[in-house]
Amino acid sequence: MGRAFVYVIVGGGVAAGYAALEFTKRGVPPGELCIVSEEPIPPYERPALSKGYLLPEAPARLPSFHTCVGANEERLTPKWYNEHGIELVLGTRVKSADVRRKTLLTATGETISYKFLIIATGARALKLEEFGLSGSDAENVCYLRNLADANRLVNVMQSSVGGNAVVIGGGYIGMECAASLVINKIKVTMVFPEAHCMARLITPKIASYYEDYYKSKGVTFIKGTVLSSFDIDSNGKVVAVNLKDGSRLPTDMVVVGIGIRPNTSLFEGQLTLEKGGIKVNGKLQSSNSSIYAVGDVATFPLKLFGETRRLEHVDSARKSARHVVAAIMEPDKTGEFDYLPFFYSRVFTLSWQFYGDNVGEVIHFGDFSGNTFGAYWVNKGHLVGSFLEGGTKEEYETLAKATRLKPAVEDLDELERQGLGFALAA
Ligand code: FAD
Ligand code: NDP
Repeated sequence: MGRAFVYVIVGGGVAAGYAALEFTKRGVPPGELCIVSEEPIPPYERPALSKGYLLPEAPARLPSFHTCVGANEERLTPKWYNEHGIELVLGTRVKSADVRRKTLLTATGETISYKFLIIATGARALKLEEFGLSGSDAENVCYLRNLADANRLVNVMQSSVGGNAVVIGGGYIGMECAASLVINKIKVTMVFPEAHCMARLITPKIASYYEDYYKSKGVTFIKGTVLSSFDIDSNGKVVAVNLKDGSRLPTDMVVVGIGIRPNTSLFEGQLTLEKGGIKVNGKLQSSNSSIYAVGDVATFPLKLFGETRRLEHVDSARKSARHVVAAIMEPDKTGEFDYLPFFYSRVFTLSWQFYGDNVGEVIHFGDFSGNTFGAYWVNKGHLVGSFLEGGTKEEYETLAKATRLKPAVEDLDELERQGLGFALAA
């Protein structure tokens, strides 16, 4: 059994949704595009899962957050794909790929062939088992990557209201889920190995602002240690978390956010990999000229900083998806992907944005005892990164524009004094 398409996207997440919209904007004829996804629903805005989806009142639910509402574009419902003649093969895992024959083999035994393939398989959550621990399959241990995980988390949360949760990991998932747990009236203890939260991105000074805010909401931080084991009762539920530092935390539930791994396995040994992802050029084309990669799974040249990167954020998934469609359909008119890294988060009433690169010297500015503050990163005499909490839409836009220009910084004290004014003048 087999079908053939001109364009096939493997993976049906954020990047797939934005690519589908771009294909239709560029006039792809009905019947030429197929999306194969392990998830049983069409592409949706994954960031909603750790934010609106977890709210106790008026939570976000599909179909409200199908792509591409996150970029204020059309909402692509199942009907939309149908009307545009886009074949959605859902709830179907691709189990192998043959790049020489240009075919994918699905878990249902179907062979799908392509002229152009876009790899948009994203990433999977790292499991505790990969660190030599066990107990992840206990019914009240939650990971968060897809809608099924989010539904499970909501159920476990609802049965833990008024109780305790341990959050393992101080990154994005840990911070956003901890806030949601608090809003659901669950007392949270966060455990992570670093000296402060979000250690890969923000400075100790910025982190201490967020940690103090979380503490004011009743969150306890246990830093510099990791989980050693779970105590599991006869019903298969975790009742306590034991840490390497010897402490024992009785709990009603556990949320684990300890990072991800890109889903590259279909192509290992067939395509060139780099930095854990599928290596692509400025046109997002892999080492095989018929195959492209976008989103979390792609390692692409970051022109602005002259090196290759793999980014795990929604803006890069959306923009790389749009770019790849242009590069495939109009190769002569499409230049190299030229991307400014953009990360953000929203928790409680807080909201921050980051642009660029967090290397070099850091200059903090603004009012750390109030609501608006930020930081610049200066490398080799140029502004390369910027962070702002509590900014307005216009301020964030200004910061993004200035960071992309990489303006020269002559005097760090003056930069500190000017604060946001520096970006406005750049
Ligand atoms: P994904 O959206 O992960 O999609 C990959 C798809 O491929 C999935 O549907 C998967 O099932 C499918 N797939 C994988 N392997 C196969 C296979 N073999 N066969 C068929 N299908 C397959 N980023 C931000 O910048 N801001 C945020 O606020 C933010 N919040 C987030 C909240 C959560 C809970 C999570 C998990 C992530 C968040 N992110 C956020 C990150 C952002 O969602 C990702 O960067 C983005 O989803 C990447 O898009 P993608 O299309 O590359 O991968
Ligand atoms: P992150 O990489 O952000 O954070 C993982 C955290 O877990 C780090 O603090 C890490 O420490 C810690 N950690 C690693 N191993 C262990 C361990 N064995 N025990 C305890 N802690 C450990 O990953 P997340 O899981 O938080 O997020 C998953 C993905 O989802 C990312 O791609 C992220 O970009 C995305 N996401 C993005 C959001 C956003 O942009 N707003 C929101 C939610 C998710 P160390 O640094 O030392 O390894």
